[in-house]
Amino acid sequence: MTTTLKGAYRPTINRFTLGSAEVTTILDGAHIRDAVNPPFAMDKTPEEIAAIAKTNNLPSHGFENTYTPTVVSIGGQLVLFDTGFGAMGRDNHAGQLRRRLAVAGYAPEDIDVLAFTHCHPDHIAGVMEDGVPAYPNARYVIGRREFDAWSDGSEIPAQRAQNREMFLKLIPPLAEKMTFLEDGDSVVPGLSAEAAFGHSLGHMMYRVESDNQSLLIWGDVTNHYVYSLQYPESIVGFDDDKAMAIATRKRVLDMVATDGLLVSGHHMPFPSVGYVERQGSSYRWTPASYQSRL
Ligand SMILES: [Zn+2]
Repeated sequence: MTTTLKGAYRPTINRFTLGSAEVTTILDGAHIRDAVNPPFAMDKTPEEIAAIAKTNNLPSHGFENTYTPTVVSIGGQLVLFDTGFGAMGRDNHAGQLRRRLAVAGYAPEDIDVLAFTHCHPDHIAGVMEDGVPAYPNARYVIGRREFDAWSDGSEIPAQRAQNREMFLKLIPPLAEKMTFLEDGDSVVPGLSAEAAFGHSLGHMMYRVESDNQSLLIWGDVTNHYVYSLQYPESIVGFDDDKAMAIATRKRVLDMVATDGLLVSGHHMPFPSVGYVERQGSSYRWTPASYQSRL
């Protein structure tokens, strides 16, 4: 008997319980980039990058960038964190969030709150679908500093000019249904925002707490589980304020490792949920396994 090859298959939906809340991570898509530097390890030589890659069993000639929004059901509220690429990603291996939400059992109408970590395209582009809000019943929450910085524009780096056009088209028209968050503000009971500025000027994280269990949705504080997480002081091209992003990365990694905090990260390897282990002055990403089931 002969059998045909089936091709690669990858999981795209992951759900677990957190106290009396439920957390679902959904892969919006993935892009292969043909170099590590840029965007990562911009302070390292090709030889150093090759050595880091080898130590971590990774190829050194590129990397995969994955995009994983998180959905949290807590206290009867369904909260979506970031949108993925939406329609603009669909001819390029992304923009699958809405379709996969349905597979996960949620209609777009079910989303009560859409929380933005920041306004880069992989986090906001899917907010509209066919010219109308993709999540029609959602109210929106966003960091005040993030909204103001993109609206004003004077501090936005030149490389983000197109991104700013996208922001102006998509986000200010929704301001009527938007709540602007400061550090520590509550979104819904059990969910609060924490400032983590640097990757973008007003980047926010969100902390979920239910029955003494916690999850930190850290957005893009750390964008690669090796090249930035193991080397938090390494310069990352994606970061809009590079020095502030490094300071935030170091602060958050230290906090997460010290507190043993569960993390969901938009660009961590799917299912994008794990822990951070301290190793000397460096860190390691430890994917979550069965912790939520015991
Ligand atoms: Zn991102």
